[in-house]
Amino acid sequence: MKPFTVAVIGGNAAGAAAAAKAKRVNPSARVVLFEKTGYISVGVCEFPFVLSGEIKEPASLLFYTPSKFSEEKKVDVFIESEVLSIDAKERILNFKSSGDDAELSLSYDKLIIATGSRQSEFPGLDTDLENVLWLKKYPDLIRTKGYLEVNKPYHTIIIGSGYLGLEIAEAMVNRGAEVTVLEKLSEILPSAEPEFSAILTGLLQANKVEVITNLEKITFNTDSGRVKSVKADSRLIETDAVFPVVGFRPDTRFLAGMDFKRGTFGEIFTDVFMRTNVPHIFAAGDSAGVKNFLTGKNQIFYSAKVAHTTGHIAGNNAAGKNEQFLGAIPVTSFRLFGKYFSQTGLTEKSAREHGFVTKSAFGSMTNLVHVMPESINTAAKLIINRLNNQIIGASFLGGKEVSGLSDLITLMIRNRMTYSGLLETDFNYTPALSPFRNILISLIHKINKG
Ligand SMILES: Cc1cc2nc3c(=O)[nH]c(=O)nc-3n(C[C@H](O)[C@H](O)[C@H](O)COP(=O)(O)OP(=O)(O)OC[C@H]3O[C@@H](n4cnc5c(N)ncnc54)[C@H](O)[C@@H]3O)c2cc1C
Repeated sequence: MKPFTVAVIGGNAAGAAAAAKAKRVNPSARVVLFEKTGYISVGVCEFPFVLSGEIKEPASLLFYTPSKFSEEKKVDVFIESEVLSIDAKERILNFKSSGDDAELSLSYDKLIIATGSRQSEFPGLDTDLENVLWLKKYPDLIRTKGYLEVNKPYHTIIIGSGYLGLEIAEAMVNRGAEVTVLEKLSEILPSAEPEFSAILTGLLQANKVEVITNLEKITFNTDSGRVKSVKADSRLIETDAVFPVVGFRPDTRFLAGMDFKRGTFGEIFTDVFMRTNVPHIFAAGDSAGVKNFLTGKNQIFYSAKVAHTTGHIAGNNAAGKNEQFLGAIPVTSFRLFGKYFSQTGLTEKSAREHGFVTKSAFGSMTNLVHVMPESINTAAKLIINRLNNQIIGASFLGGKEVSGLSDLITLMIRNRMTYSGLLETDFNYTPALSPFRNILISLIHKINKG
C-alpha cells in the first residue's frame, strides 16, 4: 500500500522544520523534501558575519547536509529539484531535478509550501552585473564573498537601509571599504521609531559611513558588465560594488493561476492551523501570511524564528495533529558598530495605523550604574495602549542588555500585561551587571506624567 505522503517544498528554516516534525509525529508517513538549490538548513542570518570575516568558514553555516538530514530525520531529500506546479485537485506536484530533462511528478496526501522569499530587485539595476552583489541564498554568499576577496572593492554602495543593509554596511567597513548607504525615504531603518533612526544615522556617520536619504531618483552607469557609478539625485558616486538591499518578496510565483488566497506581495494566507484555503495544502515561513498577535491581521514576518515556528506547526498538522498558531509578535534585532538594537511589538506609527490609541515615552540612561567605567547609554522607547494600559511595543539601542529588555517586553505583550506589571517587578541590581534603576521604570514614570 502506498504510504501516507507529506511533501514539503523548500528546504530552509520553515521547510526543514516542517519535514522533520511531520516525520517525528507520523513515523510511518513518507516525508519528501524538495529544494531547488543544492543546500538545505542554511544559517542565512549569519551571512553578514561571513562577509565581515568574523565567521571564517561559510560551510559552517550548512547546519545539515542533505544526506545527514535524510539519515537523521528519515526524510527523503531531493536537492536541486524545483517544484514547478501543483495539481491540487489530483494532489500531484510536478518537479524537475537538475541534470534530468524530464519533468517528474509525486502524489501527496498533504503538502507544505515553504518556498520562502527572494531579494527584491532594484528598478533599473541589471541583476546580472558582475559587481551587483546579493545575499539571500548560500550560492549568493559564495559568489559575493568570492567577488569581495578577488576585487577588494574600495568603495561600496548599499541601496536600502533596513537592518540587513546596515549589517552589510558594518561588514564592508570591517573589510576596509568606504561605504555609502542610499535611502529613498527620509530616515534610515524606516521600520524603526524615528528617534532610533536618528541615533543610528549618527552611529553610521561616526564610523565613516556616508548616509544619503530622501532620494528621488537612483540610476546606474555601467561599463563592461559592471556598475561604474551611481547617480543619486544630483550626486554622482563612483563605486566598485553595489548591494541592492531593498527588501524581500515571497517566492510564490510558481503558484500563478492557482486558487490560493494571497496577499499584496503574493504571500499565501494561512489560518491558525497553517492551512491555506486550498484543501490539504499548508504554508509556512516567508512565503506565508500569518497572524500578527497584536493586530490580528495576516502579514509576512521575514523572520527565521517565525519561519521555524510556523514550519513546525504546519509539519505537525500535516502529519495529523491540530496545533494552533496564536500569532507572531514582530521582533527585529541586530548589531551595528558595537551597539545593539532590538525592537518588539508595534512601533507607535504602526500601532496608530492599526487603530490603537497610544501613549509612549522615550529616554536614555546608562546600562550600568553610572560610576562604573564600562557603562554606556541605552536608549529606549515604550508604547502602551492608552485604553487598557497594555504594553504593545518597545525599542532599545545600547549594549547587550537590549536583548533581555526586548524579550521581557515580548513576554509581557504575549501575556497582554499592563505596564503596572513592570512597577511590581524586582529587577536585579549589581554594579557590574545592571543599573540601580531599570530604564523601563523611568519610562513608566514619564508615561504617567505625560
Ligand atoms: C542575510 C540575511 C540575514 C537575516 N538575518 C536574520 C536575523 O538576524 N533574524 C531573523 O529572524 N531573520 C533573519 N533573516 C530572515 C530569515 O533568514 C528568513 O526569514 C528565513 O530564512 C525564512 O525561512 P524560510 O524557510 O521561510 O525561507 P527561505 O530561507 O527563503 O527558504 C526557502 C527555500 O525554498 C527553496 N525554494 C523556493 N522555491 C522553490 C521551489 N519551487 N522548489 C523547491 N525549492 C524552492 C529556496 O531555494 C529556499 O532554500 C535574514 C535574511 C537574510 C537574507
